[in-house]
Amino acid sequence: MSMLVDASALLQPRQDGGVERWAEQLLARTKVALLLADHERLLYANPAARRLLGWGEAEPLSGLTLLSAVAPEDRARLAEQLQRRLAGEPGHFWDLQGLRRDGVRLDLRLYGQRVRVDGRVADLITLFDISETREALRQAEWQADLLARSEQLSHAGSYVLSWPEGVLRSSQGLRELTGERAATHLTGDGALAWVAPEDRARVAQAWQAATPGTPFELQHRALGPAGQLLQLVHRGVLQPVSGPASGLQGIGLVRDITRQHEAEQRVQTLAQFDALTGLANRAHFLNQVASRSQIAHWDRVHYALMVVELPQVQELRGTLGHAAAENLLLAVASRLNQLARDHEVVARVSGLELALMTGTGATLSGEQAHERARALLGALQAPVQIGATELLPRCRIGLALYPGDGQDAVSLLEAAEKACALADETAGVAFAKPEAHAQALREMQLAAALRHAIEQDGLSLHYQPQVSLSSGELVGVEALLRWHGTPWGEVPPAEFIGVAERAGLIHALGQWVLRTACRQWGAWHRSGVPVPRVAVNVSPYQLGQGDLAAQVQQVLLDTDMDPRALGIELTESGVMDDPVRAGETLRELRALGVEVSLDDFGTGYSSLSALRSLPIDVVKLDRSFVSDMTLVPESASLIRAIILMAHGLHLKVLAEGVESEGQLSLLVGMGCDQIQGFWFSTPLPAEVLAERLRAGWRLDHQHTTRRDNRRTLLLVDDEENILAALKRLLRRDGYEILTATDATQALQCLAEHPVDVILSDQRMPGMTGVEFLHRAAALYPDTVRMTLSGFTDLQSIIDAVNEGSVYKFLTKPWEDDRLRAHVAEAFQRKGMADENRRLTDELATANSALARVNAQLSTALERQREQALLLQASVGGVREILDSLPVAVLGLDPEDLLVYANGRAHQLFPPGDLALGLPARPGVAALRGVGAVVQGDVHGQPCQVWRHCLAEPTGANRGEVLVCLPVSSASCPGDSP
Ligand code: C2E
Ligand code: CA
Repeated sequence: MSMLVDASALLQPRQDGGVERWAEQLLARTKVALLLADHERLLYANPAARRLLGWGEAEPLSGLTLLSAVAPEDRARLAEQLQRRLAGEPGHFWDLQGLRRDGVRLDLRLYGQRVRVDGRVADLITLFDISETREALRQAEWQADLLARSEQLSHAGSYVLSWPEGVLRSSQGLRELTGERAATHLTGDGALAWVAPEDRARVAQAWQAATPGTPFELQHRALGPAGQLLQLVHRGVLQPVSGPASGLQGIGLVRDITRQHEAEQRVQTLAQFDALTGLANRAHFLNQVASRSQIAHWDRVHYALMVVELPQVQELRGTLGHAAAENLLLAVASRLNQLARDHEVVARVSGLELALMTGTGATLSGEQAHERARALLGALQAPVQIGATELLPRCRIGLALYPGDGQDAVSLLEAAEKACALADETAGVAFAKPEAHAQALREMQLAAALRHAIEQDGLSLHYQPQVSLSSGELVGVEALLRWHGTPWGEVPPAEFIGVAERAGLIHALGQWVLRTACRQWGAWHRSGVPVPRVAVNVSPYQLGQGDLAAQVQQVLLDTDMDPRALGIELTESGVMDDPVRAGETLRELRALGVEVSLDDFGTGYSSLSALRSLPIDVVKLDRSFVSDMTLVPESASLIRAIILMAHGLHLKVLAEGVESEGQLSLLVGMGCDQIQGFWFSTPLPAEVLAERLRAGWRLDHQHTTRRDNRRTLLLVDDEENILAALKRLLRRDGYEILTATDATQALQCLAEHPVDVILSDQRMPGMTGVEFLHRAAALYPDTVRMTLSGFTDLQSIIDAVNEGSVYKFLTKPWEDDRLRAHVAEAFQRKGMADENRRLTDELATANSALARVNAQLSTALERQREQALLLQASVGGVREILDSLPVAVLGLDPEDLLVYANGRAHQLFPPGDLALGLPARPGVAALRGVGAVVQGDVHGQPCQVWRHCLAEPTGANRGEVLVCLPVSSASCPGDSP
């Protein structure tokens, strides 16, 4: 509603001229431009208005019009506004283009107000020059528009982030990129609503870590208007707030790089994959081959690379056309891809060639690779429908094996490609090396023949004796497979067992061996042939199957065999492949009563201590150590150490492959328990073995125990006459004297006889005395060694003495009595050392017995502790139950001390009455009547009291239990109804 102001007072001369002047001055001085108009006719213009419009200060109003102060295009609007005002419409602000007298345009904001002047209605107009503001606004709008357009053009957006409150103001570009998610103002967790959820923490973190003035950049995903994922590059900087306010603000710029990102990925895909088939291309495949070779090298496994060649594709191009040729290639490629197993890689390596690389999970034999290639070939050559035509694809497969056919990717692939050319002659699949082909073929044929032999009883077992070195008796026999009558002559088990393992025949074969050996033992047993035990070899594959113990138990039941008469031999490497699982199976086998031996020990790189937790009875020393033990001191030392450690772990040691008496006596000297080997017997057919055992076959006594009272002296000299003289001189002291004329003969002698003292010449052909004694010391450290020489290479003798290889250095020519005294002293020393060793052994035995007793003791203690804990737990449980009973329970010991009061008792009795460990207070003692059930009262509360006397099993008094039930339960404090 407008207010009609009477303005006449301002304009008309007044009687009190003071006020008039005052008003006039006010209008003249104000900076606000004012006009008074009656329609277009001006009634008044103050100086500010005149200045604004470029009118002269004294210019008469009659020469001026309101319309002349307005740009021509706005004059009609002005006239209309004046009209409206005069018609009574309320005043309001409105803008128009003003026109100064000098022609300059102005942005004017007007406010018109209806006033009455001299009884006439006029319009009082206030004029504001808003040219500057308008210009600034125009600039800002232009800039905002420019920003919006450039953000739109460059797929970008921006925002300002108040810091540290985190209120985000988004630009139009950001809102267009991310849709409603980036509203104009976003706060708190919502500030990053437009960022993909997985990346929000990362973006937030970038801001938190930002240092003012240092821009940061990151790439992340965002959500587009339709929820689609966008890839953004995001730059941000923390900077001072612009303008007078202080503080910081974040400025963020994001750019949508989804297209570039996709293009990059596409480029990468194109660079690595074949456009037609979508398979890896040659370069990418070669990279994968290279890394797989690395893995295979590390894991020491073999894998195969196959190239599938399709020559037909080329022919088809000429006949059915390019499209048909490509369709055939596509069909075969997709088939190959579908046939590929986990971890196998398929590729297109050239126009006509596809390739497949097998995995490296397990090693692959040539035969397995061949079998797989043949299976693939069969599947790939199935008919393909190309348009209306049915085609039979023809493929050739070239096979290369890593590492045999190439160590690097390129040579391996080229080997397989070359092999393709040979495939026509070998039924479609060819190896890179023809020998491999022959080998695979042989393996295939062997597998087929072996399958047949298992089914048709074409196999037999031979049995090799295992004898005890302490008693000389047979302790068992090892069953060893034989396969006779094959087209290839006798195939050694080491070869055909491998074939059986790879061809999946090992389980059937193992079963056959187990049953046959058990049946044979039964047959011997029934006919009185003393075979204490028959040991059977078990392949790691059988062990891996998991139910070995169950299978063994079944065979034992089926053949009615005593489990203690069965031994199982497992190779060290087979066990160490998965010691936890093997341990479980071995424990089950041992629980059956079966003896467990660790075969080929020393070849699997496991330490004896690693075997400590495994339930093993016998360690079988590998043949390779035994074969050179008399020649290589290190082998002898190793065996000695293994025997010592095995005995420390209460394991027996059996030495395999004993072929000579020398090895035997060395093993006897080292305390080895059992031997097996050609020296005693080769593996024999069951009947031959039975025949020999019936005749009382055993190891001769002379090879088992040492003859204690004999003292043996070995004399070594290349001069026969010196040997004879020494022999004559020393014989009278009762020694058994052996002689040798050089070091080789002497070592032989040492291998065959137990020797106590060695007296050797220094200067001998082949090997000096010191060198010889050095070896003897390593092989037979218990001997006492002396040199007797006229020749003095002082340094080597000093070294030998210092290293302990030589005990004494005696000189030629000798003085008889002194030499005899030295030799006697050497024997004395040997005797003392033997005694010491015996005592040490006894001590060790006693110690290990002690350790066993200790172990038993700690097991017993542990058990007791467990029981105590159990008791404690159950006592705790009982207390809990007693505490929750609705009756009061009290325990008194024989001396009337209060030893127990349950929860309800504490509620019923006043606290002073229930002092545990003290004599029962009168309140409690009063309840103890003579009868088993009495009436009592607790502080005036009538109770029913049961008394129960406790007694030891011996009848001794253990005190009594009182149970009190208030007769009116409502009176019991804390009672709930
Ligand atoms: P192995 O378990 O180490 O068996 C001992 C091998 O050493 C046997 O070879 C035996 O004839 C041979 N041998 C024994 N004493 C001597 C000796 O003094 N000198 C030499 N040079 N060799 C000796 P064989 O019978 O050829 O068996 C070879 C391997 O085949 C066996 O090694 C075993 O690993 C495996 N094998 C044999 N029969 C079976 C079987 O029934 N099942 C399984 N899984 N493997 C078997
Ligand atoms: Ca064996």
